[in-house]
Amino acid sequence: MDLTERLAKERRARLAAERLLEQRTRELFTANEKLALHARSLSEQIVEQREVVRTAQHEAASLKGQNSRVLDALDRANTQAVMAERRLWDSIDTIRDGFAVFDSKLALVSANRSWLDGFGRTGMPPGLSYGTLLHMLVDRQLVQTGSLDGPDWIARMIGRLDGDPIPSETLEFTSGAWVRLVERRTQGGDLVSLAIDITEQMRIWAAIEALPDAFVLFDREERLLAFNQRYRDMFPDSAAGMVPGISFEQLLRDGLNRGHVPEAQGREEEWLAERLAQMRAAKGHSICQLSDGRWIMEQEHATPDGGRVGLRSDITQLREQQAALDAARRAAEAASRAKSAFLANMSHEIRTPLNGVVGMAELLCDTSLTDEQRLFADTIRSSGEALLVIINDILDYSKLEAERVTLRPEPFDLERTIHEVTMLLQPQARAKGIDLTIDYDVFLPTLFVGDPGRLRQVLTNLIGNAVKFTDQGHVLTRVVGMEVEDGRQQLHVTVEDTGIGIAPEHLDHIFGEFNQVEEERNRKYEGTGLGLAITRRLIERMGGAVWVDSDKGTGSVFGFRLTLQPGEPAAPAQPPAAFRRALVVDDRFINRTILERQLVPCGVEVVQCRSGAEALALLDRDPGIDLVLTDHEMPEMDGVTLAVRMRAAGFTMPVVLLSAHPAAAREREGAAALDAILQKPALRAELYRRLRALTAEPEAEAPVAAVTAGPPRRMRVLAAEDNKTNQLVFQKMVRGLEIDLRFAANGRAAVEEWHSFRPDLVFMDISMPEMDGKEAAAAIRKAETAGAHVPIIALTAHAMDGDGEAILAAGIDRYLTKPLRRGEILAALAEHCPEGALPVTAAAEDAA
Ligand code: ADP
Repeated sequence: MDLTERLAKERRARLAAERLLEQRTRELFTANEKLALHARSLSEQIVEQREVVRTAQHEAASLKGQNSRVLDALDRANTQAVMAERRLWDSIDTIRDGFAVFDSKLALVSANRSWLDGFGRTGMPPGLSYGTLLHMLVDRQLVQTGSLDGPDWIARMIGRLDGDPIPSETLEFTSGAWVRLVERRTQGGDLVSLAIDITEQMRIWAAIEALPDAFVLFDREERLLAFNQRYRDMFPDSAAGMVPGISFEQLLRDGLNRGHVPEAQGREEEWLAERLAQMRAAKGHSICQLSDGRWIMEQEHATPDGGRVGLRSDITQLREQQAALDAARRAAEAASRAKSAFLANMSHEIRTPLNGVVGMAELLCDTSLTDEQRLFADTIRSSGEALLVIINDILDYSKLEAERVTLRPEPFDLERTIHEVTMLLQPQARAKGIDLTIDYDVFLPTLFVGDPGRLRQVLTNLIGNAVKFTDQGHVLTRVVGMEVEDGRQQLHVTVEDTGIGIAPEHLDHIFGEFNQVEEERNRKYEGTGLGLAITRRLIERMGGAVWVDSDKGTGSVFGFRLTLQPGEPAAPAQPPAAFRRALVVDDRFINRTILERQLVPCGVEVVQCRSGAEALALLDRDPGIDLVLTDHEMPEMDGVTLAVRMRAAGFTMPVVLLSAHPAAAREREGAAALDAILQKPALRAELYRRLRALTAEPEAEAPVAAVTAGPPRRMRVLAAEDNKTNQLVFQKMVRGLEIDLRFAANGRAAVEEWHSFRPDLVFMDISMPEMDGKEAAAAIRKAETAGAHVPIIALTAHAMDGDGEAILAAGIDRYLTKPLRRGEILAALAEHCPEGALPVTAAAEDAA
């Protein structure tokens, strides 16, 4: 073959193959297409099925999820419930109060620790019955069953559970604890038991119950909260109404309605308002008597929350005791008054005759007597005076003891008072040859407001002691002062003596009652030992203080300090202006100094000499001297001799003698050489007055004298005195005075005499028959025309307090206590001597 044919063959074969391939491809394609169709439907089916499966799976899965969540939740809820219960019981366990649950058959379901503690247990099997538990309490003696025995108590405890509500119960455990059982039924019939620990409250309450008083508590709305048994017992009839919540007012009204408060009868509303106001004020207390006679003291106090706690005390017994005490006190007071009255009467009875004894003895001494008679008369007088001092001391002391001494402040002249006291003691001092001196600060006021009578007593004690315990030398009373607050003056009064002195160990002792220095040397002096005790008490009553300073053998200084209000300043003592240069002659330095101090403020220059000889020499040298003041008794040359010598030497200036014994001076030969004799110590005002009188110019009195027609009349003095002896004593005391004296034997006669006699001064005895001195004085005051006022001085033997007041109330100006002293009478006469009448003082000195 050829190639071409082979080629052609091959080409044909190839073409045939290609066609076959084409054919086959087509067929395959068709088949493929079919397959593809089929496959698609198949796969669609599969997809569908898968979807179904997936959905199913999904649903299954979701169901499963839900399921497990439900289970979880259940699980959790379960755990929580368990936990909550545990927590609950844990919490319940922690509380101090007990908590227990019983089922309806009273079997224990559960209890906390506190509840179980009550049974002395920490655990308790559930299921135990309430009754068994109570048995346990009783059997183990854990609880006090009070008045009931065990079984009865258990029965009562169980019985109460039937109540609705169940009444609560307070249990007292033998351990001392207190529990309040509060029990309730649940809806399901369980029993819940609460055991509240009230030990603390019960302690407080036990204390409140133990109070002897009734206790009650109200809230801020005044409603009753609580009270103790005693409150109930105190008002037994109202006890039923004492329920918590009731108002205070209602309680009061209940009481009123029952007529429990007799004092409120007829004024119930008023009483109620007062009582409520008192409660609201929550202070003070009221006392009321109940209808059964009991006395109740009621008081309320505010509580912090605005409530009121009230206390009621039955004070019946107390009042009975008080009444008994009062009665006893009244009886004691009556007895004391009787004693005082007895003392007053006795003093009256003793003083009246003593007045006669002392006064007459004094007068007797002034007559010419043999030495022996004089001794007897003197003894009578001094014994009488000693007796008087003792009576006065005992009387005073008993009054001070009974605190019956009342001070009677009035304006008085202190300087004059000291002077008067000194003058009264002058006779004793003179007899011993001791000098009595007063040094009253010239710049100090003399008028003060105080009790002059009591001060006089103090001064008499101190100066009297000083004179008594001094045998030679001097007794000096010195007053200095300084102004303290609001114009008052603090005064220092000292009494200095040169007597026997007191040992330091006795200084405190002597101020005690009846205390004296027990020594040989001391005991020659009489006394009761009461003087200083009285002095101290009196000064302390006046707000002052007493002291003493002493050197045994050298002397003593007794002093007191007092603050007094100065009185209305009186016209100052007019200084004698006429003199320029005065010579003071005295052997004692202190006397010279005092005179100098009194003269210098008047513009008088003072030169001092110690003796008559020295004075005469000085007068020769010093022509300027225009006044000589000399002491009476001086060693070597006395004052009278000095005056006589001066006159002999041609000196003409006035010579004034200061003498402790003016009468003696006056009787001395050569007394005519003197221009004036002054009682020593001289009162400053008196010294000035006498010095002024020495100057030639007529004094202020002159015009008055000129107006008064005729010669000066005598002072008219009326003395009302029923006792003849006393009349005689009085008469003798004023003997030699230029006065007209009339006596009236009783008050009525005194009033009549007053009408006809028109006296310048009336001395009025208090106890007189018919009409006593007080009545007479009152009658005179009533009859007096306006502006007229006759001075009336009472003479009383009564030294008791209270008398004074009655006396002064009757219109009497002042009073003197019997027995009378001549000095006092003379001082009173001098003080009231009217202008134009003959002066009493000058004559008095003559009489002395
Ligand atoms: P009486 O003087 O009545 O004894 P007092 O109470 O006045 O009582 O005084 C008590 C005592 O104090 C006196 O007894 C005396 O021992 C002593 N006494 C008082 N004053 C003085 C004085 N001035 N000097 C010495 N002793 C005094």
